[in-house]
Amino acid sequence: MVFPNVVPSFPSVWYRRDPSASAARRLSGDTGTSQPSILGEGGAAMDRTSVAKMGAVASASVCALVGGVVLAQYIFTVKKKTGRKTKIIEMMPEFQKKTVHIKDPGRVEEIICGLIKGGAAKLQIITDFDMTLSRFSYNGKRCPTCHNVIDNCKLITEECRKKLLQLKETYYAIEIDPDLTIEEKYPYIVEWYNKSHTLLVEQGLQKDKFAEIVRESDVMLKEGYENFFDKLNEHNIPVFIFSAGIGDILEEVIHQAGVYHSNVKVVSNFMDFDENGVLKGFKGELIHVYNKHDGALKNTEYFKQLKDNSNIILLGDSQGDLTMADGVANVEHILKIGYLNDKVEELLEKYMDSYDIVLVKDESLDVANSILQKIL
Ligand SMILES: [Mg+2]
Repeated sequence: MVFPNVVPSFPSVWYRRDPSASAARRLSGDTGTSQPSILGEGGAAMDRTSVAKMGAVASASVCALVGGVVLAQYIFTVKKKTGRKTKIIEMMPEFQKKTVHIKDPGRVEEIICGLIKGGAAKLQIITDFDMTLSRFSYNGKRCPTCHNVIDNCKLITEECRKKLLQLKETYYAIEIDPDLTIEEKYPYIVEWYNKSHTLLVEQGLQKDKFAEIVRESDVMLKEGYENFFDKLNEHNIPVFIFSAGIGDILEEVIHQAGVYHSNVKVVSNFMDFDENGVLKGFKGELIHVYNKHDGALKNTEYFKQLKDNSNIILLGDSQGDLTMADGVANVEHILKIGYLNDKVEELLEKYMDSYDIVLVKDESLDVANSILQKIL
């Protein structure tokens, strides 16, 4: 992360002493403490013109000195003011990590100042779940998304698992392809969801087995999640988890982690079960990575109740997550924090253009927690 140079630099102020005055003093044996006798070269008395000239030179020198000091002070003040722009984030150790990338530190500083000023009363959190609140990897091994928890579970037949894996290989490559636009990816993503959801329905999954399959899975929340959820709950800050994953699994994960507090609202793809608790389909309209804008607009009722919560911290890991706050009518300050987990080289610039703070391969909530620490 590059911060603007804030070390104050003083201009060099040169004050040129009049050499003739000191030379005259030396010749006269004067130490400079008594009234000087004004002597010319060889001890001859100086004429009035010379005295006047010396006086003028001395006055000019004093003026130059005063002017220089004033100018130095002015530059120092200006530099100090400019430096103040990034003072908060510079002082936060969580921002000094190599994983933190910020295009415009001054802007981030301004937003954070706005969030701090608004305090708990104005704050709300809007966050994605998979690979944002949950880990992308642990000890070099990929962690599952909500969908993957089901894909990998023992309730699924080997044949179905193979088909789901094939779908993932085909469509995930499209999802993260840096050369395709969101519009180009959109129909493929819908196709992926529909095909995989159909396969899941065919498996006749039972709801009462979900606690077990989540417990047995490798799904993990990011480091610092307890602090994140508990602090937000303690201060009664609304947390809107907006996920294109599977809501039933997501809720089970945060329930088992002990952080599904009353301030948390989950909007996601929820399964529909028959009277025997067997999966028969999915409720409502599909939420996928690229239609969160539409989903956000469908939740305007929720955001209307939070009309005074005009300061937002948004957390996501996909370009589609940037639209999650589109249902909020009154936005005063919004800080967008994006996790970049994959294809870092190709995507970093794009992420830095759209997210205020980009966290590269960061498996923690440290940056968000450090900001909450300042606000709450
Ligand atoms: Mg995600």
